Parts: sequence; C-alpha cells; structure tokens
Amino acid sequence: MPDKTLTCSDCGQEFTFTAEEQEFYATRGFTEPKRCRSCRATRRNEREGGGSTTVMDRPPRPEREMFDVTCSNCGQATKVPFQPRGDRPVYCRDCFERVGGGNRPSTGVMDRGGNQARSRY
Ligand SMILES: [Zn+2]
Ligand SMILES: [Zn+2]
Repeated sequence: MPDKTLTCSDCGQEFTFTAEEQEFYATRGFTEPKRCRSCRATRRNEREGGGSTTVMDRPPRPEREMFDVTCSNCGQATKVPFQPRGDRPVYCRDCFERVGGGNRPSTGVMDRGGNQARSRY
C-alpha cells in the first residue's frame, strides 16, 4: 500500500496517511482521517476537557417523578416518589415514620384472605 497524501479539513494542510496507518485504520474499520495529526490531537485535547469550558454531557440528575397523594393517616397533601396504588395506604413523611416505615398492616387486613380460604372448608 502506498502512502497517501490527504488534506486536513481543519487547517487545509496536506499530511501523509502512511501505509502503516492505512492498514491500522482498515483493520479497525475506520474511514480515512480527515484531519492531520496535530489537528486531531488538538481536537482530542479539547474534547477531553483541557479547558473548563468543556461541559460534561451528563445531565445533573434525573428528576424523580413525584406523585401527589393524600396521606392516609392525617389527610395532608404530600408527594411520594412512587405511583400510589389505590389499594394501599400512602403516608406523608411524618406519618410514614410514625407508622414505622414497615407496611405491617393493622390487625385484620392480612387475616381477611386467610379467613376466606378457611371458610371454604
Ligand atoms: Zn490540520
Ligand atoms: Zn400524614
């Protein structure tokens, strides 16, 4: 493979795309470089945050979706980070802590299913 002379799309200078490089690019499946070595290096430096102007493309933090609910205990309007289900009590933060954070059902709720099963006998 003969060396190729390419023209840099950034600075317009001709540069050599050596046979070695051509082979390397071919094995990697890359297309011919559009820029000379120095322009490529400059670009890379810019992209990798040489300057503080480069803002990372990372979003600050995904907003957690909050749902408006009414506390099942005190009736206060509050927000919860999950979709409330109609069949479950939702508590505001205060009540949630008071309840103990567990979803230990008040007496009787859990037994209903059991009673039904038992009544079949
Ligand atoms: Zn260049
Ligand atoms: Zn409450």
